Amino acid sequence: MSINGHSARKDVRDSNSTMLQEPLSINDTEVFDIIKKEKHRQIYGLELIASENFASRAVLEALGSCMNNKYSEGYPGQRYYGGTEHVDELERLCQKRALEAFGLDSNKWGCNVQPYSGSPANFAVYTAIVEPHGRIMGLDLPDGGHLTHGFMTDKKKISATSIFFESMPYKVNPETGYIDYDRLEENARLFHPKLIIAGTSCYSRSLDYARLKQTANQNGAYLMGDMAHISGLVAAGVVPSPFEHCDIVTTTTHKTLRGCRAGLIFYRKGVRSVDPKGKETPYNLESLINQAVFPGLQGGPHNHAIAGVAVALKQAMTAEFKAYQQQVLANCKALSSSLIDHDYKIVTGGSDNHLILLDLRSKGTDGGRAEKVLEACAIACNKNTCPGDKSALRPSGLRFGSPALTSRGLMEDDFKKVAEFIHRGIALTLEVQGSLAPKAPLKEFIQALAQEEKFQRQVAEIRAEVEAFAGQFPMPGLPEL
Ligand SMILES: *Cc1c(COP(=O)(O)O)cnc(C)c1O
Repeated sequence: MSINGHSARKDVRDSNSTMLQEPLSINDTEVFDIIKKEKHRQIYGLELIASENFASRAVLEALGSCMNNKYSEGYPGQRYYGGTEHVDELERLCQKRALEAFGLDSNKWGCNVQPYSGSPANFAVYTAIVEPHGRIMGLDLPDGGHLTHGFMTDKKKISATSIFFESMPYKVNPETGYIDYDRLEENARLFHPKLIIAGTSCYSRSLDYARLKQTANQNGAYLMGDMAHISGLVAAGVVPSPFEHCDIVTTTTHKTLRGCRAGLIFYRKGVRSVDPKGKETPYNLESLINQAVFPGLQGGPHNHAIAGVAVALKQAMTAEFKAYQQQVLANCKALSSSLIDHDYKIVTGGSDNHLILLDLRSKGTDGGRAEKVLEACAIACNKNTCPGDKSALRPSGLRFGSPALTSRGLMEDDFKKVAEFIHRGIALTLEVQGSLAPKAPLKEFIQALAQEEKFQRQVAEIRAEVEAFAGQFPMPGLPEL
């Protein structure tokens, strides 16, 4: 018995050590194969989703490190767990780099680096400074805002921001595509928001932070910048910074900033306002925001993600990163002007940043159909509503961004080629649509695309060219996975 007992224990140890030591390629071929397929898709496709990017090898190494294993609820120096000396050092380093990367004075700004992603970062801010059912104004989702800025339909409150708080959207002018600041100011006078959000997910123009701050001040509201999409451009100093006028700034770290998936919250410290008699009111955002993140909403910080963000922030302070972001802008302009040359309409006529919104209404098709064809051709982008769209169910635009492909080294001439591929995909979309009844539903469109041989032949032809083209460019990240 003792022999059996001994050998059973040894078995456990052996199988454990195998399980724990084997590389993924041997230990779990199912997951490994899926990752390999995704890697192939990323290498041989054209990634034009404006919120995506390719993280560097160093970022992914930090993310895949032993930092994943450590619990450290609390903040550096005040943890609920032991053994936190190294994660304390890491978190402090990440905070310091976050301030440096955006040129912030540590007497005037602090940064919480624990949010799991952009959405929880935003919700933590609302939890910190807006009471339950307090009022929030953000750019409407169909106009280029983000779900977390509040969203509801006639039937249903969709975003938790609209369930737990009261949200009122502001809009773009449907004629010009630019934010209607006058109307926002008028509505804010009636709604009296506690918080106004200056941030976008699909808006190709710079925000007027000064004007937004003025409107916030008129109502005693806080102004929160949500620079999720543009934080890399802000760090490089190639677009206007929200820090000059905002009380709070949130961001994701995986879009133009090119880190791993996580979120950051920057908050002001010091004096918030001075009344006519000279009496100063201080900000007390630091403790409110820290408490909202933990213990209010989150548990243990993702220390591996904090490690990856720290690495990305260091990279964001280099001259190479600045040159990258300048190229992101140049490439976006090249894509935009090439598409205009191909007779497409771009909302607002162009872009100040890394993305454009293509309006397909004048072509007689819509974003949903074009997205499907482009996807079949290995071109990744997403359908989006255009200003003035009657229904969110049939968005008439496509959103394209330059950050990911710029990370692969594409230059302006390459983006002209990309525009040609897009043009061929949209021409095919029109051909498929022309073969169907005018009001044929999307399902029929997808069926025709997949089943008609002449369409499949064209898809295969474009796809082969796209794959050959994309495959030439280097892919950042871990060599194998
Ligand atoms: C992407 C985005 C977010 C949310 O980020 P997740 O990491 O996806 O939760 C928040 N705000 C804006 C403006 C965004 O574009």
